[in-house]
Amino acid sequence: MENKNNPKIAVVIPCYNEEKNIEACYNSLVNILNQTNCKYDLIFVNDGSKDNTLEKLINLHKSDSNVKIIDFSRNFGKEIALSAGLDYVDADTDAVIPFDADLQHPPEVILQMLEKYKEGYDIVNAVRSKRDGETFLKKITSKLFYKIINKLTDIEIPKDVGDFRLISRDALEAIKGIRERKRFMKGIFAWVGFKTASVYYERAPRHSGKTKWNYIKLIDLAIEGITSFSAAPLRLASLLGLLVSFVAFLYAVWIIIAKLAFGNPVKGYPSMMVAILFLGGVQLITIGIIGEYIGRIYEEVKQRPLYIVKKVYDRSGSE
Ligand code: UDP
Ligand code: MG
Repeated sequence: MENKNNPKIAVVIPCYNEEKNIEACYNSLVNILNQTNCKYDLIFVNDGSKDNTLEKLINLHKSDSNVKIIDFSRNFGKEIALSAGLDYVDADTDAVIPFDADLQHPPEVILQMLEKYKEGYDIVNAVRSKRDGETFLKKITSKLFYKIINKLTDIEIPKDVGDFRLISRDALEAIKGIRERKRFMKGIFAWVGFKTASVYYERAPRHSGKTKWNYIKLIDLAIEGITSFSAAPLRLASLLGLLVSFVAFLYAVWIIIAKLAFGNPVKGYPSMMVAILFLGGVQLITIGIIGEYIGRIYEEVKQRPLYIVKKVYDRSGSE
């Protein structure tokens, strides 16, 4: 049974090359969590870091039995690392909070989240009210992305909400049931539904190090998000085909009339080139769209595990 008044909390922190942030992140989290009187676990997922992240984590684990480490065999990406962290949450945990190691999420927001949780909400989103240190282009593209994805899919993905949110045990169980390989966590969190509230915060710049995101990765994530939650692009492909056929039909009628009425001499080459190139383009686009989905089917049918854990460091004493 969930314990609404004095819940046990698990904070899940995916880490990839965060050696300079681990300690600050740990200290600020512990500082806040100790104010709550709640029991808690800190679940760090080491996502194949190439620096000393693991050593730093092991030090914390040795001095604090609330620290659990899931050490991956290689880098699997943040969405997968987060999923793994959720899988390893103890059975007696009442609420889970994904958290970034770079301190971009102010830990004191956790207190507000807990208030909402106690009021009976299952999911409490932390909404960024200010985007600091981001370029104009990033703001615009992110706005556009949310517009498109919320139009195309039947779920409402909240704007300016990252992975930072509180998830109740009930919602967690639902989320854990979703095992698709291509994971767009923001979409998955929204897809399960449940009673949702929001709290607001200002996002800080990274404590140290650089973001692992670049435009190519962001475009990838956008395509990921759309194809995970909507088959609308496939329909668009069919519509495009229909439209082109219709235009071609009108053109054919026009050619016949022109031939009968004016006995038009052939003026073929330019119009033929245009038609061939245009149709070729449309076909390539639609094949590409179909390919996106076939690729996803391929990923799913292989039935590979989502991630490979090299070692778990937890209370059971295994180290
Ligand atoms: N992260 C991860 N695996 C990756 C990339 C990132 O576990 O392959 C972690 C990273 O260490 C951080 C969190 O995911 O704790 C968010 O990453 P980042 O700060 O690069 O993303 P942003 O805040 O710019 O969205
Ligand atoms: Mg960050």
